[in-house]
Amino acid sequence: MKRCKVRFGISLESDLASDVERLASVMGTNRSHIVNMAVRSFLDEKFHFTAPHECEGVLVVSYEPRRGSLIDSEIERRKEAIRSRLHLHTTEGLCTEVLYVKAYSDEIVGLESSMNRCGCKVCKFIPLHS
Ligand SMILES: [Zn+2]
Repeated sequence: MKRCKVRFGISLESDLASDVERLASVMGTNRSHIVNMAVRSFLDEKFHFTAPHECEGVLVVSYEPRRGSLIDSEIERRKEAIRSRLHLHTTEGLCTEVLYVKAYSDEIVGLESSMNRCGCKVCKFIPLHS
């Protein structure tokens, strides 16, 4: 399906513009396509939790091992929402948790926030529903 396009001018920081150009070249596409994909991804991520709903997805957190007990206690505190858990170690020596989460969206927002407060280097929720 061909979508209607709207043209308007925007200003990007020069390093961002270079990255857009470079990625477009590597992917064999144009800058507009890259910017469209980036904006769609950003908006989907930001809009996901604007409407409360029953939600499920995967939360990936990565952190220094010294923060392990803090993370463990937070996971234990929210065990009703966490249905499955995979723990592994990266080659850089970080602990990584892949948490399958199924709960009301507010609870997932709370879990993500608490993980960020625990000092995670990476904390990313990926919804697994439309
Ligand atoms: Zn959701």
